[in-house]
Amino acid sequence: MSLAIRARRVFTGTSVVEGGVLVTDGPRIAEVLPDAPFDVALDDCTIVPGFVDAHCHGGGGASFSGDAEAVLALHRRHGTTSTVASLVSQSLDVLQGQIRELSPLVKAGELIGIHLEGPWLSPARKGAHPAAALRAPMASDIATLLDAADGTVVMVTIAPELDGGLDAVALVAGRGIVAAVGHTDASYEVVREAIARGARGATHLFNAMPPLLHRAPGPILALLDDDRVWLELICDGVHVDLDLVRYVVAGQPGRAVLITDAMAAAGCADGDYQLGDLPVEVCCGVARIAGQDTIAGSTLTLDAALRHAIASGVDWTTAVRALTVNPAAYLGLSDVGSLAAGHWADAVALDADWNVRAVLRRGDWLVEPT
Ligand SMILES: [Zn+2]
Ligand SMILES: [Zn+2]
Repeated sequence: MSLAIRARRVFTGTSVVEGGVLVTDGPRIAEVLPDAPFDVALDDCTIVPGFVDAHCHGGGGASFSGDAEAVLALHRRHGTTSTVASLVSQSLDVLQGQIRELSPLVKAGELIGIHLEGPWLSPARKGAHPAAALRAPMASDIATLLDAADGTVVMVTIAPELDGGLDAVALVAGRGIVAAVGHTDASYEVVREAIARGARGATHLFNAMPPLLHRAPGPILALLDDDRVWLELICDGVHVDLDLVRYVVAGQPGRAVLITDAMAAAGCADGDYQLGDLPVEVCCGVARIAGQDTIAGSTLTLDAALRHAIASGVDWTTAVRALTVNPAAYLGLSDVGSLAAGHWADAVALDADWNVRAVLRRGDWLVEPT
């Protein structure tokens, strides 16, 4: 079925077409035209590419290791049409089981892929990862998990200063998988070396790493300093000050990536939840390990991240690119992230306040326009 949707404006990811018409051809995009016959008019809306979330653990009351369909349903209602399923640190056996359960969803096109956030992380910067699960990377362990994944793992977060950390970065990158630096206590020099060995991602820049100090710039400067590195930011106004978000996104518009890092409570009420094996309390939308101050993932959805970014002062097209074009490039995806002919027909219609009015995924309405 083809569909022609007219909007106040269409942002393809590269250009804004005022009064544009998005035309689909079944599940793919046919074209975006400045003026054409249409089936649906959304004249008070801006249509943008479907959001791409490169780092997400859960939402809708569930985690990807529990009920992936529930997580996807929640985030899709908020405009995310491509999602990476992030897994927190666990024993290798448990991770292997989780990979086995999620791999069919990757192969079916429901998920972009799996992100192993650990277990090769720094105990000093573990955040909400259980200390008992953390370990130094051994090539044989990594190979076992990646082999079990059969191509469905698309990203691995590694603390490069661990014994074997730099070799692990090279192993992961050598397989064509994104090696991301994160949950790290590394120095500036070690992170520079990790980038030289193939690291291309910064897992939630600023969070779970030493702060940038003038005599010890640490991982943050090394990651900011190299144009080859994609910069993940949790844009909920809690994890990173919004003035700092604006500074990074406006200063690095070509490689800033807004992520949710959401856990089960995204889209749900305050209360008690789980992140991996850890109990988490959510109060006023902020998730913390029960009884501690440590933040444990966010309750963010990407539409809210967009609103935060725009409110911080980022130009709206730059903000949209940071959750569409940029994450698609970060993940090496060639058919999502922009409204180009031949791409999947994934699009979001947003009202004047940047609230989701309609969501199209692969040519079908997930949220019907009202
Ligand atoms: Zn993390
Ligand atoms: Zn995470």
